[in-house]
Amino acid sequence: MSQLLLKGGRVIDPAAGLDATLDILVEGKAIAAIGPALSSMAPSAQVVDCRDMLVLPGLIDTHGHVYQYVTGRFGLNADQCGVRSGVTTIVDQGGASCITIPGFRHFVAEPAATRVFAYISAYLVGGLEGHYYPDLYRPDCLDAAATVKSALANADLVKGVKAHAEIGGFARWGLDVMKIASKIGRDASLPVYIHFGQLWPKPESGGLAVNPDSIFNQVVDTLKPGDILAHPFSRHPGGFVEENGKLHPLVHEAVARGLKIDVGHGSHFSFKTARVVLDSGVIPDTLGADMHGYNTHVPSPAGTPDSHPDEEHSFLGRTQFSLVSAMTSMLALGLPLDHVVAMATSNAAKMIGMEGELGTLKVGSVADITVLDDKRGRWMLEDNEGTQVVTERMLAPRFCLRDGVRYDADAPQLPLARAA
Ligand SMILES: [Zn+2]
Repeated sequence: MSQLLLKGGRVIDPAAGLDATLDILVEGKAIAAIGPALSSMAPSAQVVDCRDMLVLPGLIDTHGHVYQYVTGRFGLNADQCGVRSGVTTIVDQGGASCITIPGFRHFVAEPAATRVFAYISAYLVGGLEGHYYPDLYRPDCLDAAATVKSALANADLVKGVKAHAEIGGFARWGLDVMKIASKIGRDASLPVYIHFGQLWPKPESGGLAVNPDSIFNQVVDTLKPGDILAHPFSRHPGGFVEENGKLHPLVHEAVARGLKIDVGHGSHFSFKTARVVLDSGVIPDTLGADMHGYNTHVPSPAGTPDSHPDEEHSFLGRTQFSLVSAMTSMLALGLPLDHVVAMATSNAAKMIGMEGELGTLKVGSVADITVLDDKRGRWMLEDNEGTQVVTERMLAPRFCLRDGVRYDADAPQLPLARAA
């Protein structure tokens, strides 16, 4: 059996409370040993020098969009966001529906070198063009029974349900869509992942009167413990931060009720909003890169819209990001390294019901391991509001192992660091 020795890295495994300079021996597809000096145990192993690098459980991106081709320009290649970016597991958020999950399995999950899971769309059509056409997402375009049936029949792949709580939808249909999405989650005993922050323009007629700050409480009332509130750091209205610039008063209560929070970084990530939320004592559980074809560079197939509400124009490299650069942003905001690692490993594994199976380095588990550079210097980070933050620490993916097989981090959208 092939042996690989990752030597002398800073090994962090939040699930085991581990943070130390150690070797890891991989045999075939599994982690065979962890210890301070394993060379004598495996004299013929191929050795990879990991000094000055972080050796982590294989990173889990809780918010991907990888239903490539079927979702138009929206869906990216799973391995580009996955193993070629140092990410061993990616969770597609709402690309596939009860109708199209067989295609997702056959054309995306099975051929990918990355481990791919799905939060199934609450809507019959799934996430076509990033939910560009609002009328496809009206209440009579959901079928709760069919979606529950599909989720349960594909339990190896489907780990949750994706829905949206945002102003354009509330102006059209009020709370109706969210009620159906919550029912799907309850009936399938799966967590529901809810997008907050405006996505659709309001209807031309104006629609129902919507106070953006009222959406949060209405939605939270429909949810169960373990459901996930996404995009707390969005600069768009209708989420965690009220129009007055303060944290929504019900966020603490929602967390106390057992609701979870996923950053869902994307292109609407705002350092200013993040500061408000974090300074109020609200710490997200998981990270999620939220990369898709409108916030990264993908050639536009004929027939796709020229622009999209979630689109960002490329300058200063702002549309180049990844799960690992999102980790750098979290460190720059002052979150401790062990929590940032947990967000993308042990906590993410809980979000997909695979705690103890993925997101851990325990001996005997699958050899999903991510190795990152941990550089010191001065770099400039910038969000799409133009807020600039200087960081003295930069994480960058070097390579990962998925089931013991090595993949180098060579994805084209990985960001280039800019000196401050
Ligand atoms: Zn998304």
